[in-house]
Amino acid sequence: RGLRVLHVNATAFGGGVAEILTTHIPLLRDLGLEAEWRVIHGDDAFFRVTKAMHNGLQGMDLAFTPEMQETWKEGNQRNATSLPGDYDVIMIHDPQPAGIPLLRERRGARFWIWRCHIDTSAPNPAFWSFLLPYLSAYDAAIFTMAEYVGPSFPISRVAIIPPTIDPLSPKNAPMDPQEAWAIVARFGVDVNRPLLLQVSRFDPWKDPLGVIDAYRLVKRERPEVQLALVGSMAHDDPEGWFYYDRTLRHAGEDPDLHVLHNFHGVGAWEVNAFQRTADVVIQKSLREGFGLTVTEALWKGKPVIGGRVGGIPLQVLDRETGFLVSSVEECAARALELLDHPETARTMGERGREHVRQHFLCTRGLRDELLLLRSLLG
Ligand code: UDP
Repeated sequence: RGLRVLHVNATAFGGGVAEILTTHIPLLRDLGLEAEWRVIHGDDAFFRVTKAMHNGLQGMDLAFTPEMQETWKEGNQRNATSLPGDYDVIMIHDPQPAGIPLLRERRGARFWIWRCHIDTSAPNPAFWSFLLPYLSAYDAAIFTMAEYVGPSFPISRVAIIPPTIDPLSPKNAPMDPQEAWAIVARFGVDVNRPLLLQVSRFDPWKDPLGVIDAYRLVKRERPEVQLALVGSMAHDDPEGWFYYDRTLRHAGEDPDLHVLHNFHGVGAWEVNAFQRTADVVIQKSLREGFGLTVTEALWKGKPVIGGRVGGIPLQVLDRETGFLVSSVEECAARALELLDHPETARTMGERGREHVRQHFLCTRGLRDELLLLRSLLG
C-alpha cells in the first residue's frame, strides 16, 4: 500500500501496451498503490527511429545509422530530463523510452524495470548491441515468453508475465447481440452474411494483405462472405498510414471488404461489437509479441485462426481454441472449415473463452506484477 509506481510508455492510444495500461493503472490504484502513467514526447523523426528499432529488434534487416542512434538518444535524453522524480519503482515499457534510467543515472526511483513486449530472441545485432548498455541500468525485466529474451541479456532478474485483458473494459464487457449487430451494420456490414475479421494496426507483421488474399480464396467457395479489417492508428506508429494506403490498394473495389480505423469512429466499444459479430476472427501475424486481439476474440467465444508465431500459440491451441496457420492457403482452408461447421466453431470458441479465463485475465497480470515488486523490494 502506498507504493509509488510509475509506468512509462510511448503512446496513450493504439496498440497493446496502451490497451493494458488504460485499465491496469486504475486497478493498481484501487489496490492501494500510488500508480501513475506517463507517455513520452517525441516528434515524427523520433518515432520513425523507434519504429525502425522495434522492427530491427524483432530481427528485420535494416540499417541503424549514427544519425538514427543520435535521434533516439536525444529523444530519450529530453524525456529523461522532463520525467518527474521520486518513485519507488519506474517501469519502462518497450524500447522507445528504454534509455531513460541510464541517461538519468538512475535518479528518481529506487528500482527500474524494463517490460519488453516484443520478441527480441533473434534481434538484428546493430540494434541489439546499441541497446544493451542502456539495459544494464535496470534492476529487473519482464518478458512475455522466456524464448523472447535476447542474447547476452544484461539484466539478471527476469520475470515472465504474459499480457492480460480486462473483462470489464469497454473492449471486452458483455454486450447485447442486437446492439453488436446494429453497430456493425452501421459500418456497412451485412450481419446476415458470414463475416471474417482481423483487428490490428496496419503493419507488415500483421499481414493485412495476406488476410485479404485468404479472404479472396474463401470468397471463391462462399461468395456471400465478407471481410472487415479494423485497425487503429497509434501515435507512435507513423508507418501506419503508409501501410493503410497499401492495404486499401490491395483491397481494391470490393463492397464486401471493409477497411476501417479509429478515425471512422471504431473505438473500443465498436471493436467489441465487431469481435462479437464475426463468425471467424483471424490474426494472421508473421511476427507477434502476444496478440491481445487474439485474447479479446477468444474471450468473446470466437475461434481464432492465428499465425503460428510469437505469443499466438499460447492462446490458440491448435484445433482446440482455433487453428494455427503458416500460409494464406491454410488460413483460407481453416476459415472455410469453420464457416462450414458452426458447431465446431462454437465448441472451439467456448474452450477459448475458458482458456482466457484461466490464464489471461488482468487479475492474473496484477498478481504477477505485485509478486515481482514484492521480491524486488525485499
Ligand atoms: N485495437 C483497437 N482498435 C483497432 C485495432 C486495434 O482498439 O482498430 C486494439 C486491440 O483491440 C488490442 C490492441 O489494439 O487491444 C492491439 O494489441 P496487440 O497485442 O494485438 O498488438 P500490438 O498493436 O500491440 O502489436
